[in-house]
Amino acid sequence: MRILVTGGAGFLGSHLCERLLNEGHDVICLDNFFTGSRDNIIHLMGSHRFELIRHDIVEPILLEVDRIYNLACPASPVHYQYNPVKTVKTSVMGMINMLGMAKRVKARILQASTSEVYGDPNVHPQKEEYWGNVNPIGIRSCYDEGKRVAETLMMDYHRQNNVDIRIIRIFNTYGPRMAENDGRVVSNFILQALRNEDITVFGDGSQTRSFCYVDDLIDGMIRMMENGQGFIGPVNLGNPVENTILEFAETIVRLTGSQSKIIFQSLPSDDPKQRQPDITLAQEKLGWQPVVGLEDGIIKTVQYFKRDFIKSGHA
Ligand code: NAD
Ligand code: UDP
Repeated sequence: MRILVTGGAGFLGSHLCERLLNEGHDVICLDNFFTGSRDNIIHLMGSHRFELIRHDIVEPILLEVDRIYNLACPASPVHYQYNPVKTVKTSVMGMINMLGMAKRVKARILQASTSEVYGDPNVHPQKEEYWGNVNPIGIRSCYDEGKRVAETLMMDYHRQNNVDIRIIRIFNTYGPRMAENDGRVVSNFILQALRNEDITVFGDGSQTRSFCYVDDLIDGMIRMMENGQGFIGPVNLGNPVENTILEFAETIVRLTGSQSKIIFQSLPSDDPKQRQPDITLAQEKLGWQPVVGLEDGIIKTVQYFKRDFIKSGHA
């Protein structure tokens, strides 16, 4: 098939492009390089089945493709809050443009939605039927509400225009090629530990997250796109093993053998207190569940950052 991956030069997008190429598809990677980088896909450039297009999905584009994976959107709080109006435009105008293309060329489209549609959840663990608890006017709203509208657009293009859709709600995912500067907890803690700097736990560290290794997530994403039952979702994809952020900091210190101290800093506003996916639906409909444990995944991610670290002369 000919497959378009928007946001293909980003963390998840680059892994997806690699997997799809390995499966024998033609892959078009589209990216505006806001948070993505050529380094993430340089190893794919030699393939005659790989094409790169610099484009912003806020502007229309028409490509003859069979599948569209729509991943274009800054994903970390630091990046999506940098230009919140642009974040909303990416989720709303970008989604309309991608759905318009899907309708015109009759492509199946998958939207990378997020656990953030549940906001600061009152239901635990989160099931797909939970409608969420989202602040519409806070500093995370540009991302959370943008992604909620994107889901609405997906459903309306499906009902109104018969567009073939798939919606996944991704929970915190980590692994090699996360951007060093994106401020997410996994990259922050690993880099701080490798540099023997203080590990910055926000709040008292009692808030929880459940971390999924990238290879597992990509496997679930492709299963969802290609499921033959016409199951459109939304479906949660994530690892249900839940950790407090303080436990997570301790794990990173232990696995890196770091001298770092754990320090506490103020908690950003609207930071969700707990998050854990209920993945029963993914298990039933896709036969999917994560197989990489946290320690194994963290060790692989540490190796990646160490290599980068040595290259940049910090060692
Ligand atoms: P990322 O920032 O590494 O990747 C996003 C990519 O999209 C980047 O390459 C960026 O340059 C590109 N991009 C941003 N705005 C664009 C635009 N207007 N036009 C074209 N390209 C644009 O983040 P990621 O972690 O790889 O996330 C990928 C997708 O998955 C995002 O949609 C994100 O919301 C979603 N998601 C990720 C996670 C996670 O834990 N990683 C969790 C939930 C949802
Ligand atoms: N966090 C932290 N220290 C950091 C970065 C993040 O304690 O240096 C916390 C953050 O407050 C949140 C959790 O870790 O409670 C996950 O943050 P991240 O930005 O990775 O993802 P999200 O909040 O979007 O799940």
